[in-house]
Amino acid sequence: MKKSLAGSAILLALTLTGGFAATSSPALATATASTQARTGTDAPSTGAALSPAATLALADKLKALEPVGLPTAELKERLGADELGTLVDAALNPADYVCNPATPVRDWVTAQKAGWTPEDVQLVDAIRWYDPIFYDALLWPGEAGAQFGVNGEFTLPTTHTFRDLGKFWDIRADGIQHLVPLHGSVLLDRAKMFRIFRVAYGLSEATSTAYTDEVVTAMNQAKFGFGNHPFFSFNAFAFAGQTVPGFGVIPSSILMGDGILTAFQALGYDDVTAQAILAHEYGHHIQFQRGLFQSTLTGPEATRRTELMADAFASYFLTHARGDALQWKRIREFDQVFFQLGDCSFGSTNHHGTHNQRLAASQWGYAVAAGAANQGHVLPTLTFASRFDQKLPELVAPDA
Ligand SMILES: [Zn+2]
Repeated sequence: MKKSLAGSAILLALTLTGGFAATSSPALATATASTQARTGTDAPSTGAALSPAATLALADKLKALEPVGLPTAELKERLGADELGTLVDAALNPADYVCNPATPVRDWVTAQKAGWTPEDVQLVDAIRWYDPIFYDALLWPGEAGAQFGVNGEFTLPTTHTFRDLGKFWDIRADGIQHLVPLHGSVLLDRAKMFRIFRVAYGLSEATSTAYTDEVVTAMNQAKFGFGNHPFFSFNAFAFAGQTVPGFGVIPSSILMGDGILTAFQALGYDDVTAQAILAHEYGHHIQFQRGLFQSTLTGPEATRRTELMADAFASYFLTHARGDALQWKRIREFDQVFFQLGDCSFGSTNHHGTHNQRLAASQWGYAVAAGAANQGHVLPTLTFASRFDQKLPELVAPDA
């Protein structure tokens, strides 16, 4: 199932990974229910599982969920557009580009799903669809803790890089109120799961309790990593912050998924992964604060522009003498992070650029840093963005 609902009128949350299992993000809203979570009584026993039929039934129920505030018609329209394959009316011609969707990191995540039954796949797709991990971090960022990575192994590089980005760029670092982990363990947390169903989806208390029981029971299995399977949190987001009537203020944030960190760690890129991903998301906050989303482009071309710009912001910071000052070996590694996250979803408004384009944007960013006459000078964000826009046609020129 490939859905990409990013960028609704209600919430703007920018993802890192483009066409890969894009999440159902946006649209929460008029949640009038109490945010008081009700904890269940009996925790499921380890190894408990639903029958195949019950697993499928649960998947169907979850896929039918619609976040409070997003009209059904709008949701269906967006779903239809994605599921029908938007290449028909794509703004970009796929034949113009070299693009192979398979990369080592995407193959690695696929390989982790080898033990799943067809029913499991349906259920996991449904969970990616209603995305409790994302909503929990977005709506209750103060409760997500400060540990990054399943075992906290990315906490230091993440927090240090966040501090360094704040000193490097000329935007207000305190305009990003929360740096939040996305942990799969949410899927086994009965209080948090109940709260998602009750508040984000507006279900009754009884239904929320029942759904919580089923999801926690289903996820409490080794083949799902007891919630920590990397597929559930293979992404990162930047959110501008917004006041939602009936819910209150949803603060600005950057959300960092354990799954994407784990996946690149498995490929040996763990000494640059958190830095590269965070620097990209920070680039989106530069765009929020500097009004850089406006351009003459629309649809996939517009998204591609802002995503490639975020890659370029990231690589400039990562290589600049006053930024992370990474050396050649690690430059090649973070190049791979961006290259491998490229996508071939040419018709999607979630298109982040092909592999070659993301690599080119990354390489351009550090060429700007390396080629500067004064290595101690950091370009103003608007100057950097202006140079990027001049370079963009070259970065996305057909390469087939
Ligand atoms: Zn992005």
